[in-house]
Amino acid sequence: MTNSKVHDKFNRPLQDLRISVTDRCNFRCTYCMPKEIFGKDFTFLPKEHLLSFEEIEKLAKAFTKLGVSKIRLTGGEPLLRKDLPTLIEKLSAIEGIEDIALTTNGVHLVKQAKALKAAGLQRINVSLDALDEETFKAINDRGVSPEWVLKGIDAGFEAGLQVKVNMVVKKGMNDKDILPMAAYFKEKGITLRFIEFMDVGTSNGWNFSSVITKKEILEKLATEFDIEPVEQNYFGEVAKRYRYKGTNTEVGFITSVSESFCASCTRARIAADGKFYTCLFATNGFDLKELVRNTNDDDVIYERIQSIWQKRTDRYSDQRTEETVKNRDKIEMSYIGG
Ligand code: SAM
Ligand code: SF4
Ligand code: SF4
Repeated sequence: MTNSKVHDKFNRPLQDLRISVTDRCNFRCTYCMPKEIFGKDFTFLPKEHLLSFEEIEKLAKAFTKLGVSKIRLTGGEPLLRKDLPTLIEKLSAIEGIEDIALTTNGVHLVKQAKALKAAGLQRINVSLDALDEETFKAINDRGVSPEWVLKGIDAGFEAGLQVKVNMVVKKGMNDKDILPMAAYFKEKGITLRFIEFMDVGTSNGWNFSSVITKKEILEKLATEFDIEPVEQNYFGEVAKRYRYKGTNTEVGFITSVSESFCASCTRARIAADGKFYTCLFATNGFDLKELVRNTNDDDVIYERIQSIWQKRTDRYSDQRTEETVKNRDKIEMSYIGG
């Protein structure tokens, strides 16, 4: 297996890998896993379909040889996967991996933050969509108070992890929490990132009119704060970054709907069952589980990934229309992990 960068049809290098470690979650966020669909009768992936830690490690090594240096673990809720620190230890020992991050709803951080950090985790993105008790409880649909997530964020800090907070903004759901969230995290010196509500999957009832765009949020922020844009850090950086003037505290935007960023999309995604997706809005994945289970030849895995990436032409967000949104086969966010 040689080390070489691989580029897709639009010359986008493969740089980041997102790995979903479970499709299960302790929340039922209305915009991600609405309870009407993800209720008692929903069939999650059977355990034997999940990639083992050894299989994830084997795949991650192959991806690293093709240019990946950053890995993000996600889900469902990744902290529900048993012994996650063991996986993080394995991944951080891989030559070429420079950065390991985790996206979580934060509920289990109080218990797990120290072990995650000790295993080699560097950064966490904690999802929190409202500070208002009733609003947040209605969103997560499990009666979880924002207090729990805030405690998780503090635990992450105390353990020495870098922390950012993600807030999905949806019209009529949590618009009134934009300013309180900004004020709270500015005060704490924590980067808050506003995520435009996206049409991932087919179950969240998305439509264009439910999106609050970056422009609208910026206008709202401007009523209370003085902010200025910050230069991009690297090719493929997803967030549009701003800073509260006179501070080092940033606020960011993930603008998949209003300002798509497909031209610099360098992310590969592996679902918990080993399917490889080259776009968040894909309808088909490439099965790597059977390959990783049936071959001991790392070159075969490497060549398969290389050949998939070289053929990649995805640019869903650039092309989003009322018609593409209606596609019934898009994979769900809780399955692919964001
Ligand atoms: N359970 C973890 C969490 O919530 O952080 C990790 C998985 S979750 C699918 C990853 C990210 O996707 C979270 O920040 C979540 O808020 C975001 N997300 C889920 N559904 C979304 C949607 N329809 N539009 C925009 N972001 C979404
Ligand atoms: Fe679970 Fe995260 Fe989806 Fe909420 S956004 S339902 S916490 S996977
Ligand atoms: Fe990347 Fe697909 Fe999102 Fe475009 S729509 S930025 S190609 S994941």
